[in-house]
Amino acid sequence: MDFDKSKKIYEEAVKYIPGGVNSPVRAFKSVGADPVFVKSGLGSKIEDEDGNTYIDYICSWGPLILGHSNEKLLEDIEGILKSGISFGLPTKIEVDMAKHIVDSYNAVEMVRMVNSGTEATMSAIRVARGYTGRDKIIKFEGCYHGHNDCLLVKSGSGAITYGVPTSSGVPADIVKNTIVCRYNDLEDVKKAFEKFGDDIAAIIIEPIAGNMGLVPAKKEFLEGLRSVTKENGSILIFDEVITGFRVSYGGASEVYGIEPDMACFGKIIGGGFPVGAYGGKREIMEMVSPTGPVYQAGTLSGNPLAMHVGYKNLKTLSENKDIYSELEKKAIMLEEGIKKNIEELNIDATIVRFKSMLTLFFGKGPFENFDDVQSCDTEVYSKYFNEMLSRGIMLPPAQFECMFLSTALTDEDIEYTIKANYEALKAIYN
Ligand SMILES: *Cc1c(COP(=O)(O)O)cnc(C)c1O
Repeated sequence: MDFDKSKKIYEEAVKYIPGGVNSPVRAFKSVGADPVFVKSGLGSKIEDEDGNTYIDYICSWGPLILGHSNEKLLEDIEGILKSGISFGLPTKIEVDMAKHIVDSYNAVEMVRMVNSGTEATMSAIRVARGYTGRDKIIKFEGCYHGHNDCLLVKSGSGAITYGVPTSSGVPADIVKNTIVCRYNDLEDVKKAFEKFGDDIAAIIIEPIAGNMGLVPAKKEFLEGLRSVTKENGSILIFDEVITGFRVSYGGASEVYGIEPDMACFGKIIGGGFPVGAYGGKREIMEMVSPTGPVYQAGTLSGNPLAMHVGYKNLKTLSENKDIYSELEKKAIMLEEGIKKNIEELNIDATIVRFKSMLTLFFGKGPFENFDDVQSCDTEVYSKYFNEMLSRGIMLPPAQFECMFLSTALTDEDIEYTIKANYEALKAIYN
């Protein structure tokens, strides 16, 4: 496999963009490789600048649940473009989108569109603080909620991978209001409430953590968070930026049967466009300007083109709910194939799956929190990634991420992936 063109572009890229990329994980640093520059995508596959093709398990980190260049999403995009790209004035499609989200997600009675998941969590926390009149928030070690100052505290994904617990440039004064608790550890949260109960505005959590590798929350843990927040007058925020419209149409909230007070969305709701949203109970959301005193705005928020594609993505999912069971079937097929390979080769690896999200951890498990996943062998993951890449499979370029499946993935793609997985593991452990 040749990477000459990608290499050339990368050499140019580093001159003009920090690290040559617009988001750190794309630099492939934690798998010791140079980034692959993508030229196009169709269905389950992507093609790079050198003409290599890959079965794609990143899917833009989740948004492309229907695969690349899905015809339905693109069918009248030209007409929409020709009627104007952006107005900075309200459009009807924003109302359609908002109504659709409200109808789909139990806890959301009103919703505000933004441009990224980062903006969604930032705004949700501001609203929770405004509503409660309190400053402190609880987040969990290993959860990632975007790159807001107050949430870059021992946060997941990039930060774990690079071994940097907090970002430079974040004032200590800001993070002093962030309490970091252990994922899946209710006692830890209760202790925080004993100490700071009256000051805690909100708990923010990934109900199924996808940014330390895949670590689903235990049901009792989420139920515990629901009651402890209720008892203390704090807001429970589910960050469903990954899981919303992915693990089921009603998100993790529906799967667990637990209603938060607020929820954040991103990724899938934009269908590949830069879209985020936050919403919640009417009483809370009416705090947002211009109805209430919490300021939040956006020049391109609710951008018509992004709304059309995002809305179409959601409509397609809502009208074909068997998509979710089909996706899970594919994921189970992949999970079982990999599990069989691991057993046959007798290696210390664990495949974790939740609906259509998976992580192959190079460690024994169980994986219930950040400390657990830290025990994984990232060197082996790095080798594994490169072995799979050379066999035409694009995996997340870091151990502490998830694979995302799309409906475009065929049984042949999965069979090929399982075979490649066997060969890759064999090559590494021989
Ligand atoms: C991706 C992600 C975000 C941040 O979204 P961006 O659009 O990248 O800003 C927030 N929360 C979770 C759980 C995510 O996975």
